Amino acid sequence: MSTSVLSTPRTYEVRTLGCQMNVHDSERLSGSLEAAGYVPALDGQLADVVVLNTCAVRENAGNKLYGTLGHLASQKRDHVGMQIAVGGCLAQKDKSDIVAKAPWVDVVFGTHNMGSLPTLLERARHNGEAQVEILESLEVFPSTLPTKRDSTHSGWVSISVGCNNTCTFCIVPSLRGKEKDRRPGDVLAEVQALVDDGVIEVTLLGQNVNTYGVEFGDKLAFGKLLRAAGQIEGLERIRFTSPHPAAFTDDVIDAMAETPSVMPSLHMPLQSGSDTILKAMRRSYRSEKFLGIIDRVREKMPHAAITTDIIVGFPGETEEDFQETLRVVEASRFATAFTFQYSIRPGTPAADMDGQIPKAVVQERYERLLELQNRVALEENQRLVGTTANVLVAASEGRKDAATHRLSGRAEDNRLIHFDVPEGSDVPRPGDVVTVTITQAAPFHLLADAQPGTRLEVRRTRAGDAWDRAQAESCATDAAPAAGAVSLGLPGVRTAPNLLG
Ligand code: SF4
Repeated sequence: MSTSVLSTPRTYEVRTLGCQMNVHDSERLSGSLEAAGYVPALDGQLADVVVLNTCAVRENAGNKLYGTLGHLASQKRDHVGMQIAVGGCLAQKDKSDIVAKAPWVDVVFGTHNMGSLPTLLERARHNGEAQVEILESLEVFPSTLPTKRDSTHSGWVSISVGCNNTCTFCIVPSLRGKEKDRRPGDVLAEVQALVDDGVIEVTLLGQNVNTYGVEFGDKLAFGKLLRAAGQIEGLERIRFTSPHPAAFTDDVIDAMAETPSVMPSLHMPLQSGSDTILKAMRRSYRSEKFLGIIDRVREKMPHAAITTDIIVGFPGETEEDFQETLRVVEASRFATAFTFQYSIRPGTPAADMDGQIPKAVVQERYERLLELQNRVALEENQRLVGTTANVLVAASEGRKDAATHRLSGRAEDNRLIHFDVPEGSDVPRPGDVVTVTITQAAPFHLLADAQPGTRLEVRRTRAGDAWDRAQAESCATDAAPAAGAVSLGLPGVRTAPNLLG
């Protein structure tokens, strides 16, 4: 990576157009740029370097990219020395086509060489011409790149990249390549470094997180990794995303249930409830296997919130197939489902399949699915009214927080909770944990309004201290020792919501 010395720091902005993996990659891109001397542009300021981190999975990704590039072209004309870089999955796919379509782009880089961005920017400046560098395989595991985290209390840790599956709707295997696993020691060292930095919640990330170990030949590696991460003192919440149902084994369920810091939540993509469609999607589990996993997870962790992804209108989906999806959704009692209308992704096998479903049919099915899922989510949330929850306070979870005078955060099962802070209570910092009683349910969140005369139960954490320090640093003042600053203690004890109210 380049560590060139720049006389006046150039400013940068990374715009993420994509999925969770991209959000994490963007943190790494920011880290690489800052290590090379760039500084973040201020809000509202046009950066000297604008990086678009693209996604090829999301609908209309290409249109969005070229629309944004068109807008940036005119800004670049008025901003001498400005550079535009395009990275991520779409760059990996379109390569030099991007520069052919948008010749004002300075750098195109792929998913395997994110660490080269500063060097490529410098080379483009020096040579006065666009640099396109796409590698077909991974040179440096992305987690070894510097990362600039957006949160002081939570961090992402990549344990694997790539995927050995061949789901017919997905572009990931052709863009991110075969699965590559990091060594467990490297993963745990990164988790420890985050914890040392004040983080109390870590999400282990992989395109296919539970096949972790396939590269070094250990089928039980993922469960072992969860247990090992659970030994890290000070790490209170461990999450992971996304597991594949076909590879979901009971040792992972045991590891989840027996490791107190592994949170009672599971995001497991269903995609379709129809076995015929699952086969056409080349997803090698069937609906009964999926439901069986959920049963076993709930047997061991009755309070687990299970969330999923579902695609409606895959080529060939009949009304009977769709009814199967509704059946599995009703039976699964998902806390949330991320629902997608199938649309053609060029370069995927499904794009060329017969039986593409008309948009109006897809829309109508999609609306029926939403109606069902919203009802299920509301019913599941209503069961929690009157129970208590430990909420990790976030800096910016609730869009209406300022207007409603509430703060927000995530419960252990990852549900979003908005709570108020009664007069006279300590105000928790982002990263602190509050214990609240749920008073109201909606499909997508819970409310916890305090009873008159009560005080908020706040546990100050190391993550809250880290937030104080970050605030002090951003104000360029010394961090005053926080009142009641917290030393590295025992991980919090999980409080199970009382489902009986
Ligand atoms: S498991 Fe399927 S959907 Fe997930 S990344 Fe791999 S190919 Fe894509």
